Amino acid sequence: TERTLVLVKPDGVERKLVGEVISRIERKGLDIVAMDLRTVERDLAAQHYAEHDGKPFFSSLLEFITSGPVLAAVVEGPRAIAAWRQVAGGTDPVEKATPGSIRGDLALETGSNLVHGSDSPESADREIKLWFPSL
Ligand code: ATP
Repeated sequence: TERTLVLVKPDGVERKLVGEVISRIERKGLDIVAMDLRTVERDLAAQHYAEHDGKPFFSSLLEFITSGPVLAAVVEGPRAIAAWRQVAGGTDPVEKATPGSIRGDLALETGSNLVHGSDSPESADREIKLWFPSL
């Protein structure tokens, strides 16, 4: 079994898609281990997206993720990292995400693609420690 960090980003909370996302996690068969609605401090945002520091979209990414409440969750199950990325769909909601995925069905732009998921066991470990230090 494996754990991954899931975020419903500010666009998803604003659009009232939290229930939709939780429903898809549950229907996939994944377990929710921890869940918290919170406003993200700039410091946490910068650490979370550290790998993108220096890229042209870095500052707009920080603006966006700190612009409103985010739902953060730790999700668990067999191959949870890949399973959640399948449920979420590819980063670009039109070019990469397939119909049936959250992004494929519900998003239009890469800069507002509704959800996040850890991309590897190392990222999951790092991100879960960052967002849920008590776990
Ligand atoms: P996430 O980490 O949010 O799950 P991802 O792993 O699918 O996304 P990454 O390449 O890690 O994709 O990019 C992280 C986030 O940065 C994307 O979800 C998106 O919101 C934003 N992003 C990535 N590339 C671009 C871009 N070219 N323009 C604008 N925003 C981008």
